[in-house]
Amino acid sequence: MKLHIILHPNDILKKKSTKVDNVKGVQKLCTDMIDTMAREKAVGLSAVQVGKHKRIVAIHKDADKSLEDHLLMINPKIFSASKETEQGEEGCLSIPDVFGIVERSKKIKVRYIDHSGQERKIKATGFFARVIQHEVDHLDGMLFIDKIIND
Ligand SMILES: [Zn+2]
Repeated sequence: MKLHIILHPNDILKKKSTKVDNVKGVQKLCTDMIDTMAREKAVGLSAVQVGKHKRIVAIHKDADKSLEDHLLMINPKIFSASKETEQGEEGCLSIPDVFGIVERSKKIKVRYIDHSGQERKIKATGFFARVIQHEVDHLDGMLFIDKIIND
């Protein structure tokens, strides 16, 4: 089911999301998030963008060639981020028609729980790392427009 996208400005987007304790309780939300992301042609989506303050992000498989399917991360935690950064253009489903350059860590390591409750770790670099950092920011109530580099 395609969910309604919360658009900026809205205080919902500024509130910090809470950890998911019961993975079984969010199965429908996870499925709907993947569906919504695919239908909106988004590269990533966080639960807060559909009005749920839960720490869940969906990443489209096109974000990285290593992905065979869409990636769903519950309680994602970036536990390592490179000092080395790079600049790249970002946009957001919640902020239509706005794009800007944001500086992000080039390489990150992320710990998360998958939809079956399995704990997993992944490494991400470049664009893939950027998308994850953008989505995890959403879970902390942060938007990319507050990080745009002004020349
Ligand atoms: Zn976004």
